[in-house]
Amino acid sequence: MDKTVLITGAGKGIGATIAKEFASKGYNLILNYCTSEEETKKLKEELTKEYPIQAISIKADISIEEEVKHMVSVAFQTFGHIDILVNNAGIAIDTLYENKTVENFRKTLDVNLIGTFLVSKYVGNIMYENQNGTIINIASTNGIDEYFPMCLDYDASKAGVISLTHNLALQYAPYIRVNAVAPGWVATENEIKELDQDYIASEQDKIYLRRFGEPKEIAKVVSFLASDDASFVNNAIIRVDGGQR
Ligand code: NAD
Repeated sequence: MDKTVLITGAGKGIGATIAKEFASKGYNLILNYCTSEEETKKLKEELTKEYPIQAISIKADISIEEEVKHMVSVAFQTFGHIDILVNNAGIAIDTLYENKTVENFRKTLDVNLIGTFLVSKYVGNIMYENQNGTIINIASTNGIDEYFPMCLDYDASKAGVISLTHNLALQYAPYIRVNAVAPGWVATENEIKELDQDYIASEQDKIYLRRFGEPKEIAKVVSFLASDDASFVNNAIIRVDGGQR
């Protein structure tokens, strides 16, 4: 297969699992990282050993336009085309509402929303010119109907990602499909390491399947959206949350 996927924030968590899923299907990988250099390089080595694919890792803070421009130019120079963009990188700054600062809010919007816009713009414009490609944004149920005042900036950023998804689908029609996956609770190390067992149990009780999702259960949906099996799925926001109330 000669298809290439760019995944932002690919060094760990859901991003790393998405990278593994695409590698197992024979896609070449462009693994973006900001701070997780060691993990990303290790992942690249593991996956290129295990599968007959090519992979590069590129450092870029997705909230900085010059770094995004450079990353996208290196990616296109290396592979000639990007067929799939997965905007996965994101941050959450959990802080009591009383302590939430303008800096927290700006940082969260800068990475989650403006970063997603920047990478989509620089990759999407070339996809559109080539009339080839698809974009998948990782939003969150927090951007739809799950509210936590401790992360109201995160919730707003993910609502923004959903709006951005709709605008990008319109802007890049009819050539580029743009969709979003909105995960609920996913048991990544980062997400659950500081939670106590009672809190985990009470959150799981709100989920019809009575458990958190696994990163692989998000990666499978992303991989479906990227595939020709999803050739008529466009402008969709797909919840992957086990059923939440
Ligand atoms: P994570 O913290 O494990 O991974 C996020 C990755 O993004 C990290 O590798 C981090 O270094 C990278 N990143 C952060 N800022 C960046 C920047 N400026 N430039 C480039 N990379 C940057 O988190 P995760 O749980 O794997 O989450 C992945 C995505 O899924 C995020 O967008 C998150 O909001 C979303 N999500 C996660 C959950 C969950 O329960 N884990 C639920 C809903 C949505």
